[in-house]
Amino acid sequence: MTFTPTATAEGQPTTCRCCGRHAIGMGISRMAKSTDDPGYLCGECILLIEEIKRVRRMDPYELAALDGGVDAVGEYIDSIGGLTELAEFDELQQRMLVKAAWQGCADRLRELIRKGDLPF
Ligand SMILES: [Zn+2]
Repeated sequence: MTFTPTATAEGQPTTCRCCGRHAIGMGISRMAKSTDDPGYLCGECILLIEEIKRVRRMDPYELAALDGGVDAVGEYIDSIGGLTELAEFDELQQRMLVKAAWQGCADRLRELIRKGDLPF
C-alpha cells in the first residue's frame, strides 16, 4: 500500500507515503511533472529516506509488516487484561487497539526497510 496523495491541493503535507502517519515537509518523489505527488514522509520515515527510495515494490514489506500489527494488538490486549470481545472495550480501549495495530505495522515496516532484507 502506498499512501497518496501525500499533500493537499495547496501542497501542504498530509499523509506519509510509506506508513500513512502524519507527514512533514520532505518527500521522496522526483517531481518529474509539477502535478506529481511529492511523496511526503513522516518524521520517523524520513530517517530511512535513502532505504525507502531503494524499495521498488512495497507489497512484500506491507504483508510482512502486518505481523508487527498483530504482535502489537496482542500485546495491547494482554495489557488490558485479555479482553477479546471488541464490544467489551470502552471507546478509549477501542482507539488504543487500532493505534497499536497501526503503530505496530508502521514500526515493523520501517524495521524491515532499515534491515534491507526482502521479507520473501
Ligand atoms: Zn511514515
